[in-house]
Amino acid sequence: MQPLMIYSTINRITDSSANPALKGLFSLIGLPLLLVSLLLLTFSAQAQLKVVTTTSMIAGLAQNIGGQHVEVTALMGSGVDPHLYKATQGDLRRLAQADIILYNGLHLEGKMQDVFEKMARKKAVFPVSSLIPNSQLRQHGHFPDPHIWFDLSLWQQAGQRVLQILQQQDPKNQQAYADNAKVYLNEMQQLHLWIGSQVESIPEKQRILITAHDAFGYFGQAYGMQVMGLQGISTASEFGLQDIKQLKDIIVQNQIKAVFVESSVSPRFIQSLVAGVKAEGHDLSIGGELYSDAMGKSDTPTGNYFGMVKHNVKTIVDALKN
Ligand SMILES: [Zn+2]
Repeated sequence: MQPLMIYSTINRITDSSANPALKGLFSLIGLPLLLVSLLLLTFSAQAQLKVVTTTSMIAGLAQNIGGQHVEVTALMGSGVDPHLYKATQGDLRRLAQADIILYNGLHLEGKMQDVFEKMARKKAVFPVSSLIPNSQLRQHGHFPDPHIWFDLSLWQQAGQRVLQILQQQDPKNQQAYADNAKVYLNEMQQLHLWIGSQVESIPEKQRILITAHDAFGYFGQAYGMQVMGLQGISTASEFGLQDIKQLKDIIVQNQIKAVFVESSVSPRFIQSLVAGVKAEGHDLSIGGELYSDAMGKSDTPTGNYFGMVKHNVKTIVDALKN
């Protein structure tokens, strides 16, 4: 029962026109007891941990593992590019009010990582990638590739980290978090196996995934696809005419049928790649839109992590399969 409902119930019971039996009950338990339960209810509503995450993929981990004990807010919504994202005034307020802050780390949140590292001295601020051993990270120049959510075995390790953090911060609900994590991570493992079988249905020669930026490196490594992005690991990186020429050659040599645009990256480079290949007399289409660094709108199937992964896999398989 919500505090407001209790309040109106008290009003109704103390009203002289109320049912005499209820009135008797009220005089028996009295106002103090009702007020105490009102306070307890208010307290339990506040006892939900306020968790603020950067991406909505991390919010999915926190919401599913935290269940009813957490209230989760993601700063970066649908279509937002985390590499270039800067915190707004509203974000800073939400971060200040948070009990726990979860971010990806590995420099995904390019402009915000320094802020988080400083905040971590005073607040419960954690990167979810910290359990993944270096040997499992793809190195790219000075930094590791941050797109760990597309290898679902790595994302299960991120889930284990979120479980540890929630259990440390809120020990009284340890068991509930462990139970929730078991269900969610088991479902993730099933999806992990499904992706492998889907990719195997693409003829081996066609297992080449070309996208706007290099977000699917872990996906390719885990499920057996060669992956190329027009831009590098971060959308902040530049690419030149030489890169486009090289990609064109690969597409023509391997008779690749489709390339993909991404929801959080401008489609114009991929569109000009397609136009360039067609101008040379080869057939190439845009195979569809992939959700790479941000999920879809919250009221659509791609607005949750599993829905996003399934959409990507179906889009890739449908476009590349004979
Ligand atoms: Zn990215």
